[in-house]
Amino acid sequence: MTPDAFEFERFCDDLGPAQVVHLHDPSSGLRAVLVVDNVACGVSLGGVRMAADVSVDEVFRLARAMTLKNAGAGLPHGGGKAGILADPKSSDRERLIRAFACAIRTLTDYVPGPDMGTDETCMAWIHDEIGRAVGLPRVIGGIPLDEIGATGFGLTACAEVAAPFCGLELSGARLAIEGLGNVGRPAARFLAEKGVVLVAASDSTGAVHDSEGLDVDALIAAKAASGSVTGYEGGEKISNEALFEVPCDILIPAARPDCIHEGNVDAIQARLIIQGANIPATAAAEARLHERGVLVVPDFIANAGGVICASVEFHGGSEVSALEQIAAKIVKNTREVLRAVRDEGFSPRKAAVRLAQRRVEAAMGLRRAF
Ligand code: NAD
Repeated sequence: MTPDAFEFERFCDDLGPAQVVHLHDPSSGLRAVLVVDNVACGVSLGGVRMAADVSVDEVFRLARAMTLKNAGAGLPHGGGKAGILADPKSSDRERLIRAFACAIRTLTDYVPGPDMGTDETCMAWIHDEIGRAVGLPRVIGGIPLDEIGATGFGLTACAEVAAPFCGLELSGARLAIEGLGNVGRPAARFLAEKGVVLVAASDSTGAVHDSEGLDVDALIAAKAASGSVTGYEGGEKISNEALFEVPCDILIPAARPDCIHEGNVDAIQARLIIQGANIPATAAAEARLHERGVLVVPDFIANAGGVICASVEFHGGSEVSALEQIAAKIVKNTREVLRAVRDEGFSPRKAAVRLAQRRVEAAMGLRRAF
């Protein structure tokens, strides 16, 4: 097989990708990859990841995830993703981001947003160069999705629908969160307002557990002051791995990919897992959870709050409208997926992929076929 044929074999299927573009600008040192996966539903929307080790495979998987997430959320957008090969702490960051913007100027099927290693300031630089980016600072018309906790807000709407499907009452339910960041922190706050009791939380530096409940505001304040959840006074300090084993009803992974795996899946005590992070469980672990009767709401259904917010911003909507749309769309999708699980015996992942793929295929059916 020639290398070219191999590349096609590796990536192409009935959905995409439409474009895999290598971007190289020797004068700035820019090396980047853009994958536009599918644009049947509209121009592709997806984040720009900056990392020294980002690969074409990773960008492709993330672009496909965006196709499903955007279609699943009923947004008029396809899926795309970009990866800039560089250390996000590089002193050349602004130059690289601006060079990236110039390199994608004519690739108008893609609208960039923030992702790991980039933020709203980076999006402002891109917007300044080419007039096209989402996740912008408020001062230039953006809806700052992390500041308003868009994804955590959506996870809470998702939990309200999912809890009854596994016989849980949210009020009084015990919660563990892996990763108290831009997703985990607002999820903890919004769920506490519903009476959920946070019993364990972690970040990259460690974890804290209290079966009687952690004080969410005090925990967030302690992390802000000391840089770590272990700065919280009270509770028991546990390892990051032990967080997955604590007695709880709901688990929200909100940090690393594949943190739920064959090695820890049987120790998980939660009855409901809401996937805040992208791809937080291996396929085998997800299958095992389904076998054990643990209800898992897949990432691209549960964590779509951020991209719904970005889409509302792109179309000129307000923060209020963004929050309304996040709640409405996530409630509807979670209900549809979990009904298919209950009534048709599907795994949640299979039901979610079917929901999203049907929408992409319906949109593809409206395009000219050569
Ligand atoms: P973030 O950087 O704001 O927060 C991540 C948190 O996880 C930090 O507190 C970090 O200390 C912690 N962490 C890192 N490694 C850890 C480990 N090994 N164990 C426990 N905690 C660890 O990132 P974020 O924006 O909250 O994103 C988290 C995940 O959610 C990512 O997978 C991201 O792709 C996904 N996601 C984010 C959004 C969003 O709106 N920000 C939307 C959808 C999906």
